[in-house]
Order: sequence, then structure tokens, then C-alpha cells
Amino acid sequence: MPDQPFVPAQRPTASYGPCVLLKHGEIFLKGRNRHRFTERLHDNLRVALRGVGGSTWIKTAQNVTVLGGDGSVSIEALVERAQRVVGFNSVEPAVRVPSTLADITRAGVDALRERAALGPVRSFAVRARRRDKQFPLTSSQVAARVGASLKEAMPNLPVELKRPEVLLSIEIDRKETYLSWTRLPGLTGLPVGSSGRALVLLSGGYDSPVAAHRAMRRGLSCDFVHFNGAPYTNPSSVYKAYALARELNRYQPAGTLHVIALGKAQKQLAVAGAGRLQVVAQRRLMVRTASALGARIGSEALVTGDSLGQVASQTLANMAAVDEAATLPVLRPLVGWDKQEIIDAARAIGTAEISVLPDEDCCQLLAPPRVSTRAALPQLRSVEKLIDLDEVVATLLDRVQVMVPGADEIPVPDETRCAAPVPS
Ligand code: ATP
Ligand code: MG
Repeated sequence: MPDQPFVPAQRPTASYGPCVLLKHGEIFLKGRNRHRFTERLHDNLRVALRGVGGSTWIKTAQNVTVLGGDGSVSIEALVERAQRVVGFNSVEPAVRVPSTLADITRAGVDALRERAALGPVRSFAVRARRRDKQFPLTSSQVAARVGASLKEAMPNLPVELKRPEVLLSIEIDRKETYLSWTRLPGLTGLPVGSSGRALVLLSGGYDSPVAAHRAMRRGLSCDFVHFNGAPYTNPSSVYKAYALARELNRYQPAGTLHVIALGKAQKQLAVAGAGRLQVVAQRRLMVRTASALGARIGSEALVTGDSLGQVASQTLANMAAVDEAATLPVLRPLVGWDKQEIIDAARAIGTAEISVLPDEDCCQLLAPPRVSTRAALPQLRSVEKLIDLDEVVATLLDRVQVMVPGADEIPVPDETRCAAPVPS
């Protein structure tokens, strides 16, 4: 079973036991600001560890965070939580021992035995790294000494230095040394919150949840706004938006979801004669309203799931027309992505199975048979002039419903309400 991750046996004592090594990603490049990014990363990790079922600890070595728990928390659970925290390059189940050659060697032999018990080991190698240059042996001396002991303990296992099946990695710090042989991918990027706050326009489709995830990966802490066609559509899209936001909140300290019933305002635009401009006029109303909401809740930008040319409403001209109505910058993380790339990413982050569910999307409501691919601003403005935009936006914001998807105290949505509103 070569793919099976190595999970060290639980042997927690003060200085010897399983832990998880988390290698820092880009924050490493942050020079003098690095401590601020590291603090943010650790705060987010602490939030992600809530409810894991026992007490946990974290500490920092050089560009590495070490995570552990008391005996009641499994290493698998810690790994699972850490893999959802943006900002770590890799997540490695490991064992930590005092930094003496005897301890390191003993732990190396134990580790390889445990790995061999899981399934045949075709070849192995040892790599050592000294972060503590005071350690009396060089890295290659440590690797050679541990390698020799492993060979002695398990003479049948072949050593293969170039492309070993099992690579036992040894990292020596001043007091502790970490041994691991499984390197799982982390989420990389910048810690959520380190770049500010954004408000994501979240529909029920594949694109906007992936855009939100990319925004988080660049350090934006995300709140969400969903427009539904109420009172002319059923609440299915709201259930989806709730489920999507809950899934996305697993990657960040929970953001809020704002649900706004757009149906009546959409009708006003149609009555004002929007015609082929209806979809772009609606989108302008969405970003106008989202900008006002964002200003209220401290968002510094809007995020959408647009991808250039994907549908008629996402041509360059229409995107420009939408931007003109926004008072916050509109970020489009997926602008250069293909649909298939987006769907693959949605599968990887766990939103695809929600996005695929059917819903009644407000954009379909009153959509003209042919959407204008070049909505001109003067025509859009003359439609908008026929309705009192300020008043429409104020009314929409007065009736916004606010939820925190994923927060324990929030009841599951029921038939009559999408979810219980909570005080904002
Ligand atoms: P998605 O898959 O995200 O729904 P899409 O391919 O269906 O995108 P559009 O419907 O044109 O594309 O929407 C473009 C973007 O506008 C969405 O990614 C989203 O950010 C925003 N948007 C569209 N509809 C809504 C909605 N009902 N509520 C909030 N935002 C929306
Ligand atoms: Mg859509």
C-alpha cells in the first residue's frame, strides 16, 4: 500500500510523539511583515481546529508550524483540518523526538518498521536537514548514520538514493527533530484575511464558489451575497447558496451570507423596457447593491465568477458596463479560466456536488431570448433613469437576510425561511 499515508503510532510524551509539520508557503517571502502573516496563519489554524475533539497545541520553528494534540485527537483529524487552512505548502504527519542522534536513529527505525507493516517497501532513502547548525553532525552524516541503522535493522530493504519509494525526511531543530515520510499538499497562498475583506457575489453555479476559493487563497476574507428571484421563484437557489457558503466557510473563519430578494426590482427593469439589456441591467443592479452592502459591512472589493466570453453577459463590453455601476473594485479571479478547469476545481474543493443541483436562478427570470453582447451605457442609463435606483437599492438592503452558514447555532434552513436570520 505505497499510497497509504504514514501516520505515526500515538505515543505522546513531553518530548516524543506524533505531530504534524506544516511548511509555510508564500508568507516566507514577506520579509519584515512575516510575523504579521504568521500570526494570521496561526489564528486561522486555531479557528480551523475548533471542535476537533481534544486539546491541541501549535508552535513555530523556522518557516514551519508544528501542530499536535493530546492523545485524544487523532493525527488524521489534525491533518484534515490543516489541509483546509490557506497558507501551508505541505502537511506532513510526523514524529518529534529530542535532537540527539540516539533518539533520531531509534525513531527512524520505528518509523520505517511501521511503514513496512503497512505494505511492502520497494526502496527507501534518508534525507536530513539541519536547521540547527550547532548539531554536532552535518546533514549528510546524520542521513548516513540513520541509513546505516535502518539497513542493519531491516537488511532486506533496498536503499535507492535517486528515486526511493519511501523517503524518510529528518529535520533537526535545536531541541526537537521531526521525522516524516508523507508529504501531503497544503492549500498554499496567503492566509485568509491578510489581504483584506471581500464580498463575493455567490450564485448557485460552479463559477462563483471557485472564484471565492481563489480569492481566499490570495488572502481575502470573504462574505457572500446571493440574489434570488423572490417572490417569483422558489427558494431552491437560496438553499444552494447557503450550502455553498457553508462549504466555503470550511476554508476560512466563517463569513456571512446575505440573501436579497431581487424579483420585484428585476420586474421594474423589465417594465422600464430593458429588453435585450435585461441581464446586464440586472447585473449592474447586483453590483450597485453589493457595493452598498459591502460598504456597510467593511468589504474592500467585490468578487464574481465571471470568465471572459463564457456567456453573452460576460463579454468585455458587458463586464465594463457592469464595472461602471460598481463603487467597489470588481475582482474576477476566473477571468482566464476554461469551464472545465472551473468544474475540476469545484470538484476538488467540494462545491461541485452542490452546484450541480437544479435551482430556479434569478438570472433566468425575465431573461430575453437573446442577451445583448454589447450593452451600451447610454441605453442602460436611460432604462435605469426610469426607476429610482437609490430607492430600489435602499429597499433591497432593508430586506436583506443575514446568516452565518456553518456556525453551529444557526438552524438548518426550513421550508418557509431560507435560514434563521441572525443579528448582523
Ligand atoms: P456561476 O456559475 O457562478 O453562476 P455563470 O456562468 O452562471 O456563473 P452568470 O450567471 O453570468 O455566470 O454570472 C456571472 C457572475 O455573476 C457569477 O459568477 C456571480 O458572481 C454573479 N451572479 C450571477 N447570478 C448571481 C446571483 N443570483 N446572486 C449573486 N451573484 C450572482
Ligand atoms: Mg449563474
